[in-house]
Amino acid sequence: MFRLALHWQILIGMIVGAAAGTSLNFFAGTTRVSISEELPAGLASLEITDSTDGTSFRLVATDQSTRLLTVGHPSMGDAAAEMFGSLKELAANEPAIAAIYEQQGKTPAHLWGDRFKRLGGLFLRLLKMVAVPLIVTSLASGVLGLGGTASLGRMFSRTLGYYLATSMLAILTGLVMVNLVRPGLGENSMPQAAAAEPVAAEGLGEVLFSQIEAMIPENPFSALVEPNFLSIIAFTIGFSIFAMLAGGEIASAVRKAAETGFAVMMAMTTAIIRLAPAGVLFLMASVTATQGLAVFRSLAFYMLAVALALGFHAMVTLPAIVWFFARRNPLTFARAMSPALLTAFSSASSNGTLPLTLSCVEHRAGIRNRTGSFVLPLGATINMDGTALYEAVAVLFIAQLHFGEMLPLSQQIVVAITALLASVGAAGIPHAGLVMMAIILQAVGLPAESQGIILAVDRILDMLRTSVNVWSDSCGCAVVDSMEESPVAS
Ligand code: ASP
Repeated sequence: MFRLALHWQILIGMIVGAAAGTSLNFFAGTTRVSISEELPAGLASLEITDSTDGTSFRLVATDQSTRLLTVGHPSMGDAAAEMFGSLKELAANEPAIAAIYEQQGKTPAHLWGDRFKRLGGLFLRLLKMVAVPLIVTSLASGVLGLGGTASLGRMFSRTLGYYLATSMLAILTGLVMVNLVRPGLGENSMPQAAAAEPVAAEGLGEVLFSQIEAMIPENPFSALVEPNFLSIIAFTIGFSIFAMLAGGEIASAVRKAAETGFAVMMAMTTAIIRLAPAGVLFLMASVTATQGLAVFRSLAFYMLAVALALGFHAMVTLPAIVWFFARRNPLTFARAMSPALLTAFSSASSNGTLPLTLSCVEHRAGIRNRTGSFVLPLGATINMDGTALYEAVAVLFIAQLHFGEMLPLSQQIVVAITALLASVGAAGIPHAGLVMMAIILQAVGLPAESQGIILAVDRILDMLRTSVNVWSDSCGCAVVDSMEESPVAS
């Protein structure tokens, strides 16, 4: 029977989901309901206006006095309105009103967007379910398959070298682009009052030191439960190295156990991956149903700068590296990796996509398991080209808006270095890059609240940068694997 290739199925799922969500948003993205029954004491009526831009509540009390509460987009508010940054904040202050909103006030787009999110979430749960055992067995069998500490050391230094080089290139591309497009200056900018949602900034040193701490889990089992990927990776590598050093029967028993477990986990993962088209469909429908198009317009130039820079890195720099160093056709390689790239796009999570990335690298691109299982888990945690680039562009954009001019070169260098470190510290989950940005803002003296302006479009940019993150990890696999084929004389 004819069966469409998986990447086509996923692409179709994505398009159908996006079309359904966008139509829902277009036709059912705004509602206004008036409620006069079963209201909390003292309230005569409540009018809720819900749209993708935000929500407003008009409360008329029994003595006819009125209050206006707004959540979300700053333009929703008028001078007398009480503004809340998020629905959570509203729920904390006005629980009764928030409860009524949940039941009666949401637009159909919002309501269905939430339902699609839960359905798509089932696919993500399945991927998360296999992630930890897959990483452990795959990494252990990979390290033990290397056959000696010398080849392990070689692979480690090549992998780190690749991560560092490509992340720096990505940041450089971002800096050049933001200096060319200047999205925050002159005609291109449309500054609005920022919806302040300050993120607590830890110092950079603190963040990096806590990464080192994470590499030494106090209890490896609780790291598995949490899960903390860096702890799991560090402990598994350590365990495998010592099994290797113990040698003989012990090494081969551990290796056999790891390989057996890995074979089972891979079979489970392959079965789950078949569900990707449906999962991607629901995730796309949810994002497009709940995110309005209007919000994109005011930040168009900023998004353009990020997208162009990411596009350049993904379609020029990384393919050139694959071509020159791995001697592979980048197009064929991209096609092989497409299920992982499309899933990264719709889920915005490199950790979530990891099982798929591992499977594509091995089964579709023909890269040896021992390379994939070493380079990919490490890459999903610390190699984030897309995130590094994004951080640089976003912070320079904010600086342009804030200071009305470009940051001087010395400050741009500070941004570049901190962006690199922040990308290493960012977890492979949605919006992680946004949280880390507070550190860079602080490094160049910008207030954390200035981030408010870019929050609205973060999800879509997160999707783009996560695909680039996963693509860079995959290219790294190809490069490291090709070097393994012709080991340098040592
Ligand atoms: N979502 C990204 C990832 O999982 C991290 C980020 O927010 O930049 O790779």
